[in-house]
Amino acid sequence: MRIRSVEPFILHAPIAQGSISDSTNTISHWGIVGARIETEDGLVGYGFTGTHAHLASDRLIAACIGDCYAPLLLGEDAADGDRLWLKLARHPALQWVARAGIAHLALAAIDIALWDLRAKKAGLPLWKLLGGATVDRLEAYNTDIGWLSLTRDALVAGCTRVVEQEGFRRIKIKVGHDDPMIDITRIEAVRRAVGPHVTIAVDANGKWDLPTCKRFCARAEALDLFWFEEPMWYDDVRSHAALAAATAIPIALGEQLYNADAFEGFIGAGAVHYVQPDVTRLGGITEYIRVADAAHARRLPVVAHVGDMGQVHVHLSFWHPATTMLEYIPWIRDCFVEPIAIEDGHYLPPQAPGAGCTPTDAALQAYRMPLRG
Ligand code: MG
Repeated sequence: MRIRSVEPFILHAPIAQGSISDSTNTISHWGIVGARIETEDGLVGYGFTGTHAHLASDRLIAACIGDCYAPLLLGEDAADGDRLWLKLARHPALQWVARAGIAHLALAAIDIALWDLRAKKAGLPLWKLLGGATVDRLEAYNTDIGWLSLTRDALVAGCTRVVEQEGFRRIKIKVGHDDPMIDITRIEAVRRAVGPHVTIAVDANGKWDLPTCKRFCARAEALDLFWFEEPMWYDDVRSHAALAAATAIPIALGEQLYNADAFEGFIGAGAVHYVQPDVTRLGGITEYIRVADAAHARRLPVVAHVGDMGQVHVHLSFWHPATTMLEYIPWIRDCFVEPIAIEDGHYLPPQAPGAGCTPTDAALQAYRMPLRG
């Protein structure tokens, strides 16, 4: 599997329901910034990272793939995944500027494409290559009905619909108003509508400070929240540890962390209960496995954040024994040859060889953005 070419690409896929907001962002498209890697024996692997479809920064990621990493990969054997990950991630010149941020998103796209190649070479879906499914069923929790930009009536209607008509038993609601009591009333309305047996998680996307979180939790504990996700600034271990000690609501985080060391900081401090790695930010599947294994060693559940909208994480989640469920946001499913699939609130295991990242020709044509201005 000698690597013959590495080419970046950028797709901006529109969100079907229009623009949505959480406490920190408003977006109308999801960015798929990827790597296409071809080997001399004719195999083609795809990997990508997920972005907010900001073209200028997407071009920086694509340039990192094409200009920094591609020359290091040409002629290499794509089977040597761990060695190549170290070659890119620990390259002296790149490590100086690239232990996180844009370069790590580029590394993720490359690493996923290399895994995609190896799974295609083996003729197996990635979860099978990794060791097989450790669960019979993989429950999905629905985030796509919980946006902060929805009115309270629309929020309640969407949550009720997916529970009563689509079989979801787990939902997540965005929070993060300047006045957290507005969020409390929204959650109360949803709890009344869906009843006591549906789990409700909430996600502040890092918006609040510790006093606001304590005030929110004091009222929210009566609402039986499944977890409180990213309550505060993403890197603030000490405040998350303090909140975890102060409330009965479990803390979830990880989507903004770039490496296993960052996770170890939160895990070691007792600052996280649900570990949420994202393969598109972590430098790929290789580092994701290190994080999931570290969580498993502490018997902490892993529930991935779907920066890939589930295309890769569905494989990792069926396989890794620490996983208990997976987020569901179906924005880009139509962009892929084998899209994620749900039945009665549960994911179906992918069947095609690879890591689920091969874009359709139609998506490449319709959503491709120019690499240079
Ligand atoms: Mg989140």
